[in-house]
Amino acid sequence: MTNVPLLDLGPQNRALEAQFEAAFRDVLRSNQFIMGPRLEAFEQDCAAFLGVKHAFGVSSGTDALLLALMALGVGEGDEVLIPSFTFFATAGSVARLGATPVWVDVDPHTFNLDLADAARKTGPRARVIMPVHLFGQSCDLDAVQAFAAAHKLRVVEDAAQSMGARWKGRPTMSAGDFGATSFFPSKNLGGMGDSGLVTTQDDALAERARILRVHGMQPKYHHREVGANFRMDPLQAALLHLKLPQLPGYNCARAGNALFYHSALKGRPGVAENRPGADKAAKVLLPVDFSGQGIWNQFTLRVPGGRRDALKAFLTARKIGCEIYYPIPLHRQECFAGAGYRGGDRVPVSERLAGEVLSIPIFPELTPEQRQWVADSLADFASGKAE
Ligand SMILES: *Cc1c(COP(=O)(O)O)cnc(C)c1O
Repeated sequence: MTNVPLLDLGPQNRALEAQFEAAFRDVLRSNQFIMGPRLEAFEQDCAAFLGVKHAFGVSSGTDALLLALMALGVGEGDEVLIPSFTFFATAGSVARLGATPVWVDVDPHTFNLDLADAARKTGPRARVIMPVHLFGQSCDLDAVQAFAAAHKLRVVEDAAQSMGARWKGRPTMSAGDFGATSFFPSKNLGGMGDSGLVTTQDDALAERARILRVHGMQPKYHHREVGANFRMDPLQAALLHLKLPQLPGYNCARAGNALFYHSALKGRPGVAENRPGADKAAKVLLPVDFSGQGIWNQFTLRVPGGRRDALKAFLTARKIGCEIYYPIPLHRQECFAGAGYRGGDRVPVSERLAGEVLSIPIFPELTPEQRQWVADSLADFASGKAE
């Protein structure tokens, strides 16, 4: 039995340890612990990496979403279309501004926003659509932009799980009015604490967001509107700056692991790809990168037939880390119950996925033995050998 954690940050960060220590010393001796050239240098390289005009570091991915919505003037009375199957922050940022999330269903194969359902639920108060590029796979950016134009909506891309992912060559975070990502340690570009990034191609929106990042202050001690402290630490920026050039390599290694799982499990009894028309009798469905340019933040299986928890227990017994992202669709969260938000009565795919999904190890530094053990174990389960 080979121990396989769901995620091990050790090897990746150990490889850069000496450089991290030097960067820490540099920041320490600079005595500049807020804003400044180290943050700006990181921001510039992020903008170049993403092919966007403006990128600025913020305190977290959640705050990146919040700041983007604030800069668009979203507030009470406004509706924001969001998928019900995503991490909480997507909805939390909307609710915190007094705006109203509208729950939109997702596609059962990409796990991303279903625009046909969004069309049914777009009402006169809708102002923004927030596509989430879930698990590292970009939404169809062309379709999202066409949808937004047709319905006169602004777009905020939740790219917390997709920095480096592309749709037909276009990077996520470059298509919306704003893009937002996260450097939470488990993301593909993981920091040593909390931070995030906001992007935009629009000069006026960039200016507004920049001012709101520092209490709406412009010039010093003059406040035209109420912002907050959404700053990213230069220490965090300096550390992440060392990892940024490695991101394509990390993403490639994840894609290599995904490819391995597919080739190791192809044609095995009980295994199929999670595509339209997949074998109804399959016990384990493998995720497909329909965009072809995803970054595999998660490798998320579907286990139909009420057997997901059995697979989770089986893998856990074999010392293979796994986790349910996400067990409760957002419209069912206690804090939103009774809020009167629309759309939650018709999100059948989100409801079904919450009971079927299971994410397995995909991090870049998985060893050949580890991923073989995962694949063998999945094959055992899918063939019924486990029972
Ligand atoms: C991680 C994540 C966020 C929030 O990022 P934090 O940096 O943890 O605040 C938002 N949306 C999605 C989809 C995420 O996965």
